Amino acid sequence: MAQRFCEVALPVPLRSTFTYVVPASFNGEELIGRRVVVPFRNRAMVGVGLALSDRAPEIAGGKKSIKEIVELMDAVPALPPKLIELGQWISRYYVAPIGETMRAMLPPEIEVRHDREYSLSDAGRGCLAQLTSGVGATEEESTERALLDRLNDEGGPASSAQIRRWPGGEAAAERLVRRGYLSAREVIRKRRTRTQKILAWNPAQAEPAAQKDPPKNDAEERIKEVLTAVRGPLPLAILVAKAGVSRAVVLRLEKKGRLLSWEEPLTIEEDSWDTDFTPPTNVLNAEQKRALEEIWRLIVADKFNAALLHGVTGSGKTEVYLGAIEAALSRGKRAIVLVPEIALTLWVGRLVRARFGASVATLHSGLPDIERAREWWRVRHAEAKVVVGTRSAVFAPLENVGLIIVDEEQESSYKQEETPRYNGRDTAVYRAQLEGAVALLGSATPSLETYHNARAGKYQLLELTSRVANRSLANVHIVDLREEFRREHRATPVSETLRAAIQLRLEEGTQAMILINRRGYSWSLLCRSCGSMIQCQNCSIALTYHKSRQRLECHYCGYSIRPPKECPKCKAEYLYFVGDGAERVEEYLREQFPKARIARLDRDTVRTKREYQQVLGAFAGGEIDILVGTQMVAKGHDFQRVTLVGVVAADLALGRPDFRAAEKTFQLLTQVAGRAGRGELSGEVLVETYYPEHYAIQYAVKQDYVSFYEKEAHFRRMLHYPPFAALASILIRDRKIENAIRWSRALAGFFAPFENRGVKILGPAAAPLARLRREYRFQFVLKSPQRSALSRALSGCLDFCASKDIPETAVIVDVDPASLS
Ligand code: ADP
Ligand code: ZN
Repeated sequence: MAQRFCEVALPVPLRSTFTYVVPASFNGEELIGRRVVVPFRNRAMVGVGLALSDRAPEIAGGKKSIKEIVELMDAVPALPPKLIELGQWISRYYVAPIGETMRAMLPPEIEVRHDREYSLSDAGRGCLAQLTSGVGATEEESTERALLDRLNDEGGPASSAQIRRWPGGEAAAERLVRRGYLSAREVIRKRRTRTQKILAWNPAQAEPAAQKDPPKNDAEERIKEVLTAVRGPLPLAILVAKAGVSRAVVLRLEKKGRLLSWEEPLTIEEDSWDTDFTPPTNVLNAEQKRALEEIWRLIVADKFNAALLHGVTGSGKTEVYLGAIEAALSRGKRAIVLVPEIALTLWVGRLVRARFGASVATLHSGLPDIERAREWWRVRHAEAKVVVGTRSAVFAPLENVGLIIVDEEQESSYKQEETPRYNGRDTAVYRAQLEGAVALLGSATPSLETYHNARAGKYQLLELTSRVANRSLANVHIVDLREEFRREHRATPVSETLRAAIQLRLEEGTQAMILINRRGYSWSLLCRSCGSMIQCQNCSIALTYHKSRQRLECHYCGYSIRPPKECPKCKAEYLYFVGDGAERVEEYLREQFPKARIARLDRDTVRTKREYQQVLGAFAGGEIDILVGTQMVAKGHDFQRVTLVGVVAADLALGRPDFRAAEKTFQLLTQVAGRAGRGELSGEVLVETYYPEHYAIQYAVKQDYVSFYEKEAHFRRMLHYPPFAALASILIRDRKIENAIRWSRALAGFFAPFENRGVKILGPAAAPLARLRREYRFQFVLKSPQRSALSRALSGCLDFCASKDIPETAVIVDVDPASLS
């Protein structure tokens, strides 16, 4: 048989796939989407097969230099065809290396571990022959000598694990590698994991046999039915239970070749804690019903459709999602639910399970690799009908997907801030298109992009305009800090108006939530004499003062120092703390209300998910009167006794050099306002600001999304920003400023011709954060009214960088960036 070749995507930051020879022994095996082990640059790597061909690629050196695939992993391809297509799209659209993109879609590599293997080189053998005795040698030398001796005696290579058992062995081995006496290579070893037998119907074996055979027996029919019509491949124990047959029958069929079998990591048990969970039983209101009827229509149509569920906070969107899942399941389809944070996967997963008893899988990055791998394979083997997860769950290896829900679609957590820099929401819509499924995006404050699509008729618009059970939206009032100052003649961390409102809540025994979106005690330390701020050594950013730790800290790189007594620049002693953060606000409230029970929720006070849940639990249980926190407090929670939400320094984000600043501010204020008055008690929201006339604040106060959208869309159109232009940011970074400048100039030359082809090129200019972790950063912003023109400008840019020897890590291409700052 002619030789065959396979294109393999490897997790390296290169734009191409790599060709390998398919060994004849693998004939008949499916390779597309299959994980394979291949040699790459003197080491073994796990990649995924993407394409086959009968012809050798034309490369210098000819066929001989093409290496063979070493091993096949898994019994079935990890990636179904639709996911391969999705990965190829991501790689093109987000200008991301194909191998790193595929890596993001594959299950964690729990089956293998990377190891280093040492063997004696010719030089080492020669050296051994010359050495005579160990007399007079240093300790290091005798360790090396012993190591060489041992490798010589054993004749074969030794792994780093074996060598590490010797005191000083590994260091000695590395020294010998550097001197050329040992050679080292990276290898992959199988790791032992607990596995179970998975069985699948073997169509190739079963059919011809069936013709000759006398009437087929019942047990075999039932097994076939379960494995083909009902479920797909199953673990032995589950197959036995579902088909109602004995193990012996199954094993006999396996022996005859009617069933295929392989080992997979053990699946985890269904969570036990949700057996005693009773979900709320809500009768849908008229608006929820109408939205759901539309969704049913879309799902029954059995083709791609996208819809935006725009529902105010507390309008009961979750119930509509559950109804949508029901619709998809009833059509024999599967569903994916994306949520913006890990904590919500538990909550939503629980609701889904309680409602349908359908098996639900949870996928998120917070799971240990082994559990994530088990969940992943459970999904791959069609044991789960609904997958709930965070961003990367958009790659859940489900087939027959009928619905993809994206909850809080505007959240920036859907954007991955490392390669591949995809947006989970946009990827969800594209995947729905590939699968012929329905994409359902939900939000109280949709992104400009999504609402624009709804207005343009690309997405169907479904609206929930009122809160459930006729609860009213909270009353929102502005506290004009300029007026406050005129009246009080002093600036306090919390305005007098807000202070009085909190006092009232303490007196009546309800709860207050205070949002201050800055960590630390003071934003910066300013020298009143020379006007300079104390900056981070590694980043162009002012250091934040943390009083409890007595440190000035950089929130970007972690650099920290003790607050100096004098200005490092001019030696003056007039150093002042400027700008109040959450720590200061909490301290102030403790001074003002010594008897109140006050807690703070930010990354300084809660470091783990458990601590976070504890604080929120205590607040929900009424053990805390005032909760102060950063935007962590703004999200999704349902507190029944909160009657006051105060927003300190609401206009903070408006000062940022980012085209989404107004949108972010509007979203945050609307979300936090949605936290008040969710129970029987009605709520009040106080928003402190120096710019009460800013439209983002005005419309947030009125909770008027549509007017905000129209105003913001007007500016975006005028300034050529999304959704009216496609945008990409290209960042060039290096510790040496000369390199960063030289590479930026080279890229400027590359981009220049695209100016005439409909792409506006801004830059290179110093990035808003001009220095970060000691690297100098320059930025291009590319804009075009046509996505295709932008794609053309970007498509060759990484190859160009490679041709100019610009390191891969020095260039970050971000398509549809979440922000430009
Ligand atoms: P949001 O739209 O803000 O996501 P949720 O889906 O969290 O709103 O619903 C808010 C609350 O309203 C939940 O406690 C939910 O159980 C309840 N709820 C949902 N639908 C109804 C309904 N039709 N009648 C009464 N309560 C409802
Ligand atoms: Zn720093």
